[in-house]
Amino acid sequence: MRILVQKFGGTSLATAESRAQAMGHILDARQQGYSLVVVVSAMGRKGDPYATDTLIELLEARESADLRDLDLLLSCGEIISAVTLSSMLRAQGIDTIVLTGGQAGIVTSRQFSSARILNIDPTRILEELKQGRVVIVTGFQGITDQGEITTLGRGGSDTTATALGVELDAEIVHIFTDVEGIMTADPHIVADASRLKTVSYTEICNLAYQGAQVIHPRAVEIAMQKNIPIRVRSTMSKDEGTLVTSSSYAQFMEKRTNDRLVTGITQTTNITQLRINIDGTKAALKVFQTIADHHISVDFISVTPQGVAFTVSNLDVEKAIAHLQQQGFEPAVRRNCAKVAAVGAGIAGVPGVMAQIVEALEAHSIDILQSADSHTTIWCLVEEKDMITAVRALHSKFCV
Ligand code: ASP
Ligand code: MG
Repeated sequence: MRILVQKFGGTSLATAESRAQAMGHILDARQQGYSLVVVVSAMGRKGDPYATDTLIELLEARESADLRDLDLLLSCGEIISAVTLSSMLRAQGIDTIVLTGGQAGIVTSRQFSSARILNIDPTRILEELKQGRVVIVTGFQGITDQGEITTLGRGGSDTTATALGVELDAEIVHIFTDVEGIMTADPHIVADASRLKTVSYTEICNLAYQGAQVIHPRAVEIAMQKNIPIRVRSTMSKDEGTLVTSSSYAQFMEKRTNDRLVTGITQTTNITQLRINIDGTKAALKVFQTIADHHISVDFISVTPQGVAFTVSNLDVEKAIAHLQQQGFEPAVRRNCAKVAAVGAGIAGVPGVMAQIVEALEAHSIDILQSADSHTTIWCLVEEKDMITAVRALHSKFCV
């Protein structure tokens, strides 16, 4: 059995027109001989009648809502879109079956609203596929060992799709969304950003702007464990989109045309840098312990015997400053920072990439306030006013 998992996101199911397009992709896949599992999100976005955000608004005291109740409510969004799509397919003479997460065999932890998939029993899905049915599974939800309905956290339908892909040993998972694929940079900033044919699992997770909005990082991690390829593509076209696969395969595919160093440029805003003069590592421990005790996550961490510097999200700044001051520290605060990153599996072990980054930013007199790096990514902290220029400079240096 050649199994294909197709996942349709909220915008892909929002209107009669987009649902018709989604149906077109389902019919195409059937024609190609696939056994088909279709995972759906709730229809539309905030404000649309059955979208997840709209359902949340039905609750009186949202902040203190009972999470078990919340999960029961939110699970309805996916059920509504699954049944709607199913009825459209049946009207075309296609045999379908709708399964909730629990009916599809998805067993999760007991953490309401952020449950983890513990186990999938694929028996029911496989039986239905053998009958020649299109199996439509409600994304974003499962059931606990006690029979409670849970949800997987926002954006969790992607996770349902790749977890099913892994369990069913699918040939590929198609994530249908409202963009044509993964771009070399945010097209709102870089006019000549182009669509990538392939990216690696790690690259897509680090391409925060384009990546995380298009597919949930947890879903990518799950696919990566068994090397199940993913294709990110648009519901509104027949275009192939971007193939997400293992780094070596992605590089192999690209090498035929060009030997790429940097795959894409990305950026994040709403960051504040804190710098504190200290006297020795013991004081550094006190700084980071204080931050940790108040559950504030930090980034761009640099520690020397004389000082520490790190960044926090703008949402956490005031809290961080207050707690540090209570401990006797006086942080120097630099607000309105942004992080720009050059992402590429090709940079691992290649000398001179940082020199090129510094050269590109220096040419525009952009100060690099801090930097950090991993196997596949180099991040630079800059002032937010410089961000757009920085992204464009790096994109023209590496990606055109
Ligand atoms: N409908 C859920 C959400 O909006 C799950 C998803 O779309 O992936 O978060
Ligand atoms: Mg999503």
